[in-house]
Amino acid sequence: MVVTRFAPSPTGYLHIGGLRTALFSYLWARKNGGKFVLRIEDTDKARNSEEATEAILKAFEWLGLEADGEITYQSKRDDIYAKYIKQLLDEGKAYKCYMSKEELAELREKQMANKERTKYDGRYRDFTGTPPEGVEPVIRIKAPLSGEIVVEDGVKGRISFQAEDILDDFVIARADGSPTYNFVVAVDDALMGINEVIRGDDHLSNTPKQIVVYEALGFEIPNFYHVPMIHNSAGKKLSKRDGATDVMAYKEMGYTPQALLNFLVRLGWSHGDQEIFSMEEMIALFNPKDINKSASIYNTEKLDWLNAHYIKNTPNAELAEMLTEYGVMLTSHDKKEILLDALKERAKTLKELATQVEEIVTTPTSYDAKAVKKAFKGNAIEVLNTFGAKLSATDELHLPVDYHTVMESVVNEMEIGFGKIGQPLRVALLGKLSGPGLDIVMAVIGKEETMLRVANAITSQSVTSSV
Ligand code: GLU
Repeated sequence: MVVTRFAPSPTGYLHIGGLRTALFSYLWARKNGGKFVLRIEDTDKARNSEEATEAILKAFEWLGLEADGEITYQSKRDDIYAKYIKQLLDEGKAYKCYMSKEELAELREKQMANKERTKYDGRYRDFTGTPPEGVEPVIRIKAPLSGEIVVEDGVKGRISFQAEDILDDFVIARADGSPTYNFVVAVDDALMGINEVIRGDDHLSNTPKQIVVYEALGFEIPNFYHVPMIHNSAGKKLSKRDGATDVMAYKEMGYTPQALLNFLVRLGWSHGDQEIFSMEEMIALFNPKDINKSASIYNTEKLDWLNAHYIKNTPNAELAEMLTEYGVMLTSHDKKEILLDALKERAKTLKELATQVEEIVTTPTSYDAKAVKKAFKGNAIEVLNTFGAKLSATDELHLPVDYHTVMESVVNEMEIGFGKIGQPLRVALLGKLSGPGLDIVMAVIGKEETMLRVANAITSQSVTSSV
């Protein structure tokens, strides 16, 4: 069974780079009917926070990415790590090193002066004497010091590291007994049965060390897929300004989970030239072997385009539900179909859509001065008066076409062009000259509200024009 994982360090929010590898891992597990598990790597007590863990879980919930089974917290697994450290000590695969900080610094300086790679020199590797007093030892693993360590990477191919170039007997437990990063990652991946590790290629340099741990403990080495980074349009590592921001900030900006996931799946992975993928399609088609070998480029226009696509294709009831998150309560509005059908064609984000809805359902309290100047010319007030009177005398007003008919009869009766009623009416209804079709606006707000807005505009413009 394929078991993948996402293993965030809760040092901050979940950013989109992390989310992308999480998505890849999720898809691969689901495609294979396997498991996708979540492990919170919260061993760095100084930098980790519970809020960050909460934020990560919240983001997963919003996106609908469900992990299988219990969440594993590294901070609760000290006993397990201690057990394996002891095992390595007992088997002579790890040893205590009593080198003091000063000695280490001295060694480092010497190596730097000789232009050598700085590394631990193995002086306690075979130590049998009496340990120096007053030094709490660290535990070092016996790493192979020559030969090659091979990572058969599913994305990058075979990568061979020369042990003497990159390894030394690295520390697996600090003087206070706490285990180190590469040790716990390898132990956890093995114990959790993770056999497919998909992660950012910024972790590639850790992989040989983790392989050393797997081998020392006799664990099976998983398949690795190191995913190239996401770059901005200038080819640089994505920064906060480019969009490397909290996943939840995308929600605030009005992106839908589907659009964000669809956007991310295409960053570094492709299936022909297909751009739109439903979750089912992603699951059916994703294969980490198809991940690109080079960095992908973040492109906001693409995200906006996808978001517009998903908004347009979301059923109105669902859309109304989503809009509640942006303060717009439309779920029980009887004209939400008409309203959303009209607006969702053009909205790029849910936030934009929410603003447009608000602009329609809220009685305007002021009018755009330029719009007023343009619209309230000639007999505009008389036109609005006529329109108001006709509305008041009409009973069956439900659909946009009903309102359109009333407008038409004003136009015919007064022998004016449509613009002569359209412009002042638009200002009356919306306070400005932009927005969707007026017949739609009126059908949505209803007869009473339409009459109120028309009357308000007449009052305010009569006062203005009489002073
Ligand atoms: N905790 C690591 C991180 O957040 C990921 C570890 C891994 O994927 O192996 O970068």
